[in-house]
Amino acid sequence: MWGRVPPVLDVAASAAAAGAALAAWTAPALLRARVLRAALCPELAGIGAAGSVALTFDDGPDPEGTPAVLHTLGQLGWKATFFMLGAQVERYPEVAAAVVGAGHEAAVHGFSHRNHLARGPADVHRDLVRAVAVVTAATGVRPSWFRPPYGVLTLGSLIAACRAGLAPVLWTAWGRDWEAPSPAQVVHLLSNQLRPGGTVLLHDSDCAARVAGSWRSTVQALPRLAELADQLGCTVGPLREHFAGRPASSRS
Ligand SMILES: [Zn+2]
Repeated sequence: MWGRVPPVLDVAASAAAAGAALAAWTAPALLRARVLRAALCPELAGIGAAGSVALTFDDGPDPEGTPAVLHTLGQLGWKATFFMLGAQVERYPEVAAAVVGAGHEAAVHGFSHRNHLARGPADVHRDLVRAVAVVTAATGVRPSWFRPPYGVLTLGSLIAACRAGLAPVLWTAWGRDWEAPSPAQVVHLLSNQLRPGGTVLLHDSDCAARVAGSWRSTVQALPRLAELADQLGCTVGPLREHFAGRPASSRS
């Protein structure tokens, strides 16, 4: 859910890479412009193999939305990456297990859906460690990727992710599906932003959405996303394929 994204910058990877001081924790991250983000930190921005589009879902698992998404993904023959909330996984561990059991990829969206700007670095670290433990216990697979709530990455987020062995990944195109627009509107938004090599952000849960059942628009938009991917000449898949299976954090 994105309706309350604060007017701050949401990427600080370059600062973190430069070894910026921990004292800068409360400073807003450095870059919001998508062009700059992509140029300086392409993997963080979600830019991967040129012939593919990564498909990602946030805020699940959900007992209704996630199975509906899984069903449609099965019809399309697609695999995707699910950025799960630890709190949702605790409520619905069998749904989280079903995601991985169907061949999809589990990733971490945090334990609770709280903006990291409102949390201290130790609190963020505890949140991620707890989320990793819950997702791993439910799915049997340790996650590799991390996307913060609202996409707000602080320096503390990056340090916590690094300590937890998670590589942060944002997105290049979203459908604003948490507002439950029509499926055509979702795809129209995506078509204006998506390019070969990009990453799509959608939601399989309405737990942080403005509209109950918002995932219904998402499900109905997926076949139209297939048409868009065909037009771009791209395959659709999870981040592990988009980034050739290796988390950015483990690359030399
Ligand atoms: Zn979210």
